[in-house]
Amino acid sequence: MKRQIMPSLNWKNSSINTFLPLKFPLLTLSEMRAALHTHICVLMKRLLKFFKRLLVILVVLWLLVFAAGCVVLRLPQFGQKPKGDHLEQLKLSKQHNGENFENAGGVAMTMTAGKFVRIIKAYMNQPDDKVPETLEVLNPNMADIRNASDTMVAITWYGHSAFFVEMDGKKILLDPMLGEHASPFSWSIKRFTKDLAIPIDSLPEIDAIILSHDHYDHLDYPTILKLKDRVGHFYVPLGIGSHLEHWGVEPEKITELDWWQNAMVDGIELICTPSQHFSGRGLNDRAATLWSSWVIKGKTKKLFFSGDSGYFPGFKEIGEKHGPFDLVLIECGQYNVNWQEIHMLPEESAQAAIDLRAKTAMPIHWAMFELSIHSWTEPVERVSVKAKELGLPITTPKIGERFSLDKPLPNTTWWRN
Ligand SMILES: [Zn+2]
Repeated sequence: MKRQIMPSLNWKNSSINTFLPLKFPLLTLSEMRAALHTHICVLMKRLLKFFKRLLVILVVLWLLVFAAGCVVLRLPQFGQKPKGDHLEQLKLSKQHNGENFENAGGVAMTMTAGKFVRIIKAYMNQPDDKVPETLEVLNPNMADIRNASDTMVAITWYGHSAFFVEMDGKKILLDPMLGEHASPFSWSIKRFTKDLAIPIDSLPEIDAIILSHDHYDHLDYPTILKLKDRVGHFYVPLGIGSHLEHWGVEPEKITELDWWQNAMVDGIELICTPSQHFSGRGLNDRAATLWSSWVIKGKTKKLFFSGDSGYFPGFKEIGEKHGPFDLVLIECGQYNVNWQEIHMLPEESAQAAIDLRAKTAMPIHWAMFELSIHSWTEPVERVSVKAKELGLPITTPKIGERFSLDKPLPNTTWWRN
């Protein structure tokens, strides 16, 4: 039976009731309470059901992402974190705190909320010339390399931090990142050009590969796979041997060094020296391996290779112990004030070369990969200005331009053409 009035309400005959539409049943207060209670119960049940379903979906999604992450992180390019006896050995290093390696003075790249916002803002105002429209790569004459004298010291730059060094008859590669992507994935951080100064297949037998750290723009899995059987020996900071062994390099071909330790390559002394940076290739291996710079002392010439580094007092110490250097290959690129602790600004690169007692400095870590927010030529322009101010001679060879340390060093402004 339909109810059309609410006799228990005082206002049943009030004027308001006159205007109430009679299409809807009118209820008593207790009935309204009961109805409301029923409605709330139904609503709560529906909400509970909805949240239960949502929870199940979220858990399934999380499991799928976790499983996919586990599969992806097992891809060989991520390398292998040191473990077992190897790890116990690394822990004996003064640079190891029992958990991971750390910089002298505990300097770390800390990400505060303010810094994060500034980085996002910076990425929203990027210059449009971060990548060159074209980039010429020269190819050295391989006959010149084959016929070079045993006393010659010649350098060929691949761009970024990769070098082919001829010293006292030996052939050495520094951070040979010759692959197409400075990343574990083929869709990100592409080389500016696929052209290589000396393609891998054209390289002569290599006596030594020297690595500064395990970041993708310095240690490239495809390059190591192609080169590993044509290389005499690998010299690396502590822990990096783990990646190399994982990729099939025989353990007897790997020498791991701590800061200030040295090794000899037929009369050439290699000294693993400090840098202020970090390491890691995956999600759970930050600072699991050591990072370094290198001193390379030949019979007549001395080189310094910075690897990646923020500006730090270590440069002065290295300069005092092992300088002066005929050529300092100094990191200058992929910087930003928000990560200045681990990548120098160009003005600091010039000062670092002075601290190292460089006879000549060459800005490196630019001109092949886009890893920061600056224009691709800003590093070399800024360091040139500061070097002039400090009276520091610099050399700026073209990519692939083989130059000898016994001759005047190249210093054109080729990047402006
Ligand atoms: Zn790095």
